[in-house]
Amino acid sequence: MDAVLTSSQLQKLRRSLLSWYAQQGRNLPWRNTRDPYQIWVSEIMLQQTQVKTVIPYYQRWLAQFPTVADLAQADQQQVLKAWEGLGYYARGRNLHKAAQKVVKDYNGQIPDNLAAILTLPGIGRTTAGGILSAAFNQPVSILDGNVKRVLARIVALPTPPNKALTQLWQISDTLIDPEHPRDFNQAIMDLGATLCTPKNPSCLLCPWRNFCQAYQQNRQTQIPMKEASNPIPHKKIGVAVIRDENGKMLIDRRLEEGLLGGLWEFPGGKIEPGETIQDCIKREIKEEIGIDIAVEDHLITIDHAYTHLKITLNVYFCRHLAGEPQTIECQEIRWVTLDEIDKFPFPKANTRIIEALREQAVG
Ligand code: SF4
Repeated sequence: MDAVLTSSQLQKLRRSLLSWYAQQGRNLPWRNTRDPYQIWVSEIMLQQTQVKTVIPYYQRWLAQFPTVADLAQADQQQVLKAWEGLGYYARGRNLHKAAQKVVKDYNGQIPDNLAAILTLPGIGRTTAGGILSAAFNQPVSILDGNVKRVLARIVALPTPPNKALTQLWQISDTLIDPEHPRDFNQAIMDLGATLCTPKNPSCLLCPWRNFCQAYQQNRQTQIPMKEASNPIPHKKIGVAVIRDENGKMLIDRRLEEGLLGGLWEFPGGKIEPGETIQDCIKREIKEEIGIDIAVEDHLITIDHAYTHLKITLNVYFCRHLAGEPQTIECQEIRWVTLDEIDKFPFPKANTRIIEALREQAVG
């Protein structure tokens, strides 16, 4: 980019973007603050989640955990409950761990330098740039999904963006306005989110159309080039709603690792080739919790899609026959009533099981 743009072009590029942003920039709740904790929370929530979904979570989060110290003191279950429904729960777990580190190692002050902030769990280079520029107005560049798309189009990148990250970081470093880094980073994100959209970009309204090589070549809908994608795997899962003689149901808390680590669930597991759903459920419950059950009526079948995985949950009522439940492949086990269940954080697909149970109880 340095080689392509003269310094006066660079100035024009920055100025045109900033003046567009001054008129068209989005008014988002985390832009009305310089508090690094609040900005950090927004940055983590915005990874992999859209703005309109994030806003109510962000507001509730700050009401519940107004400071980094409040978050550090919270119980992990409260944190996961507040994150419930946002997905990618490692983000919530890491935010909690990082808050504890900030309190312990940095006297409750979020570090204002790149090397230190990168040591906090869950903070990578783009998130660090987002926090340091928005909270401290430091010229640290970013490269989130929106920015990658804009930059790929500006230079008519001949490869998928993820194959050219070093180059894209260099461009982002070159472009950032050292005098207005906060506004510049927010402006380029807004450009990607509102005009330079994945489909049908609004090039005629774009402040960068005179510099944009994709637009000049009329290839803005072909760039960024797509990665060759592998088919998304589909997992079929047998799930047990195990009831005892008092009508209480067994739930377990998943191990810490993995996508949904630390959340509660109805136990179960993957159906092996050639296995019936009923046999799968009996086997999984024996392996996971060490008890014998009878598999009874079907409750519900739920299809759920993650970005990298599709799952189908085949949910059956089950009766506890013998054995004391043990935490063999989980952290904790509880017997709960339908009224008590809302206290526990569940993944989204499991909350649909709870809805089905409520509908049955009413019916
Ligand atoms: S001209 Fe079009 S493709 Fe180029 S940056 Fe602007 S909106 Fe994106």
